[in-house]
Amino acid sequence: MDRKSNERLSLFTPGPVSISREARQGLGRSGLHHRSDDFRRLMSELSGHLKAAFLTAGDVVTLTSSGTGAMEAALANLLSSGDKALIPVSGKFSRRWAEICEAYGVDVTRIEIAPGKSPEPESVTSALEAAPAIGAVLLTHCETSTGSLSDLEAICDAIHDLERRRGSEILIIADCIASLCVDELRVDTWGIDCAVSASQKGLLSHPGLAFLSLGKRALKRVETTTSSRYYFDVRKYLKPCAEHSRERTEYPPDTPFTPAIPLVSAVEASLAHLLDLGMESVWRANRSGASAIRLLVEAAGFKPVAGRQASGVVAFWTGGVDAGRIAETLEEDHGIIIAGGQGDLEGSILRVSPIGKGPGELRRFAGAFSGVLAKMGRTLDMDAIETEFDRLLEGCSIWE
Ligand SMILES: *Cc1c(COP(=O)(O)O)cnc(C)c1O
Repeated sequence: MDRKSNERLSLFTPGPVSISREARQGLGRSGLHHRSDDFRRLMSELSGHLKAAFLTAGDVVTLTSSGTGAMEAALANLLSSGDKALIPVSGKFSRRWAEICEAYGVDVTRIEIAPGKSPEPESVTSALEAAPAIGAVLLTHCETSTGSLSDLEAICDAIHDLERRRGSEILIIADCIASLCVDELRVDTWGIDCAVSASQKGLLSHPGLAFLSLGKRALKRVETTTSSRYYFDVRKYLKPCAEHSRERTEYPPDTPFTPAIPLVSAVEASLAHLLDLGMESVWRANRSGASAIRLLVEAAGFKPVAGRQASGVVAFWTGGVDAGRIAETLEEDHGIIIAGGQGDLEGSILRVSPIGKGPGELRRFAGAFSGVLAKMGRTLDMDAIETEFDRLLEGCSIWE
């Protein structure tokens, strides 16, 4: 295939992912002005749908930025210089929490974890017990650099237990950028004070919008935080400032600044469709896709990086095979784009995302992957795994 005909490229990267039909149609429908009732209605629908996706009765703020903007907004609104935070670091994205904290003068205690491993609830609570001054834990649900999934539910439970014993608050902030609408996530049931996400992963939409959920404790904290903030001051998004206040209150407050209007329309269309399918079906479908890719990778003799596999991305060690050449050949011969390793893992691993991929696309991936490996002297015996592979593909038929 000609490298330049990129309209035929198929994205198996862990964000941006291939954009859903609904998001593409939604993008095309947006000729709105953001100070109009039509836009207010749209924004109000999006906010309601985001709450349904995060499974929270709290507020969800929409920002025009990439996901990292929502991470920074969480930090700037919830922590102050001199505060102490605990961060399990197991890859590039959990390390980003530490970097943002350092930029805001937050004092970071890290739990260093090997790539592919996830933090254990006991290691989190024992670090908190050893340092009672720590008042926040920053977690990463899917560590996209390795495809490992944190057991957020168990970690949150352990932290809440400790809080009860200790009688003081430990704020839980979680990066759910690659897990919202991908893996099971229950913000209120699990007791996450602030979860952040973005438009270009599980929401199957274009990059450019970011979201943060804020529970009651987080909302209180916003008022007492002393960090400087302006564009990312969530109070501007939650309460209308005088300039934008209106008589009519049936809609949420206007966005304080010009939002990425077409993206609001695209994400709303995509998310409404995902909610129609049902969160549990969406989680199940992405899980089946990840299992199907993991099956292929293992059948080719590669070792997956993650112990606890996330549904958003499967990373695998390429061992003696040239990772760069596998990726390049998949792109050149088949128009399939996958991702390599980041930082220290560059050249050692490859990453393939199943988000939103149905049986047809996964079968095409299997054929291409097997063909590319054959060229490099590796065999992927499809006959041996066919029954199991087909069973897993059935699990993701909602995407077709
Ligand atoms: C993609 C991703 C991010 C970064 O998001 P940007 O939109 O590129 O800023 C952060 N954390 C995780 C876990 C991600 O997967």
